[in-house]
Amino acid sequence: MKRFFENLGYKFQAFMQGRYGTDELSYFLSMASLVMLLLSCLIRPLGILYLPALALMTWSLYRSMSKNIYKRQKERTGYLEFRRKIEKKTALLKNMWRDRNTHRYYKCPHCKAIVRIPKPGKGRNIVITCHRCHGTFNKRT
Ligand SMILES: [Zn+2]
Repeated sequence: MKRFFENLGYKFQAFMQGRYGTDELSYFLSMASLVMLLLSCLIRPLGILYLPALALMTWSLYRSMSKNIYKRQKERTGYLEFRRKIEKKTALLKNMWRDRNTHRYYKCPHCKAIVRIPKPGKGRNIVITCHRCHGTFNKRT
């Protein structure tokens, strides 16, 4: 019996050989499903989250056990891209909040870049030059 448990680690290693394992997306899926499971257990009206939480957990396990590494890496890349966009948006909102008394942020209509300018006085027409495309656009403050 003792030998069985000693070999369990090696057996698991052999089982996981050639499989994808865990990554950021698997970790996120597991944590999201755990939070959803906790919420569904603690708050009665949120019991509806139980099945989606199990689905996320199953997806996470499936990804970890999968041998289609190329497809899992593509999923991971998509997830990281999505996360990077959200982090970028959050950082912009944080900066906009921090600078709310001193600066204004505008989106360039030509290249969609965010332009940050010192806060102008109220009721004035201003011409803004984009730092990326050097195009100009008018704004009324
Ligand atoms: Zn521009």
